[in-house]
Amino acid sequence: MKESCEKQKILDNFENTIASCTRCKLSSTRTKLVFGEGTACAKIMFIGEGPGKMEDLSGRPFVGRAGELLTRIIENGMKLKREEVYIANIVKCRPTVDMLMQKDRPPDKEEVERCNPYLKEQIKIIQPKIIITLGNPSTKFLLKTDTGITKLRGNWGNFQNIPVMPTYHPSFILRNGGEKSPLKRLVWEDIKKVLEKLNKP
Ligand code: SF4
Repeated sequence: MKESCEKQKILDNFENTIASCTRCKLSSTRTKLVFGEGTACAKIMFIGEGPGKMEDLSGRPFVGRAGELLTRIIENGMKLKREEVYIANIVKCRPTVDMLMQKDRPPDKEEVERCNPYLKEQIKIIQPKIIITLGNPSTKFLLKTDTGITKLRGNWGNFQNIPVMPTYHPSFILRNGGEKSPLKRLVWEDIKKVLEKLNKP
């Protein structure tokens, strides 16, 4: 159940206002717009790149295999409930190669351009204490950089005075060895830095 706070109503209202968005071409192929999920009172916000197949069908972020891995990181690693954080993407509709809804791709420049005001508004409403960017597109966008995630991960950045910790996207871990991948250990190192900062008096 969602924790209740004033911000939740504002966020819910905002979700309703963009429910029929047609600001970019991804609206023509989506099944469901994936706004984001979690509590508006969250101290931690995860930001990925865009919905995949399962997310497009369900309307929920990070529910496929990558989502299961993210959930394990949150629940087993961080000892938080998934509903205690907020999870969103930089674009809200599924980007696919040639718009065929078969193979996922990162959002293109125009799609990010059109959709990013929604993410900015979510951040403005939620005001998380820490943002964790998952993978290149959200990291590059929030930190305004062309440097890749391999160099940036584990190093604090900043978005509108909110500390940002970039780390690998769970899909990237799954494509590179999965649960036993050394990349997972690196993600855990990044997450530990987040927990230390969050728990600092
Ligand atoms: S990706 Fe964003 S801008 Fe494009 S249609 Fe979906 S909600 Fe609108």
